[in-house]
Amino acid sequence: MSAQFGPAGNADSFPYKSSVDAPRWLGALGLDCYEYQCGKGVNVGEATARSVGAAAREAGISLSLHAPYFINLANPDPDSLQKATGYILAACRAADWMGAARVVIHSGALMKRTRREALDTALPALRQVLSACDEEGFGHIALCPETMGKINQLGDLDEVLELCTLDERLVPAIDFGHLYARSLGALEGEEACERMLDRVEEVLGAHRAACFHSHFSKIAFTPNGGEKMHLTFDQTDFGPDPAPLMAAVARRGWSPTFICESAGTQAEDALTMKRMYQSCLT
Ligand SMILES: [Zn+2]
Repeated sequence: MSAQFGPAGNADSFPYKSSVDAPRWLGALGLDCYEYQCGKGVNVGEATARSVGAAAREAGISLSLHAPYFINLANPDPDSLQKATGYILAACRAADWMGAARVVIHSGALMKRTRREALDTALPALRQVLSACDEEGFGHIALCPETMGKINQLGDLDEVLELCTLDERLVPAIDFGHLYARSLGALEGEEACERMLDRVEEVLGAHRAACFHSHFSKIAFTPNGGEKMHLTFDQTDFGPDPAPLMAAVARRGWSPTFICESAGTQAEDALTMKRMYQSCLT
């Protein structure tokens, strides 16, 4: 197994209107995977979802799905948890229609509490979400809590890893651009990459660490808040540089899934990452 590379949603250069055409286009470019975007809500119908899934299987593209952005597992209000559970189940249903094995979910917001208090709300909430997934027959879908880019969001690396200790089916969605932005640029470069990957292995074990899910893009940040906006690889004012991460993953022989979230050039930049990674394999 080697690492997989693909875009989040459709790049500006995508020449078709329908995502059903995306897997064939990505396969022809030399990419491996595709993250279907439901960030603004799960609005995809069953017929479309099944067509995307069939096209992906035909093109040899593996699929994941991004659940709605507004999910907040750290909200202590029970109504909020019920709604979040509903959104996650809807995302799992669409993923199931597509044959997508992974659903990415945002961890939540601090809402003026300490990080520990927010995490202590999110942990039992996620446990409840998992049992709801089991009841609905979605136990085979891996939920992927994501590291978040704003400082007042729950989801630094340790918080996401702690969430993932709840259940074997949880896969960390490590957004390296987000970690770079929330650390105001500290988490980049060879040493930081090695430290982050070591940490994943320390908490989740070698087997689970090797197949983590990932988002990657360069991200501009502000000193107070963290993440400001996603950039393209051509923009050089901000990082992180993908090269040290590609080298570290190749050296370890790991096979994570890298979803590129560059602003408009996500397919091209995913291919750049794949070439960097491949050049480190030899
Ligand atoms: Zn996300």
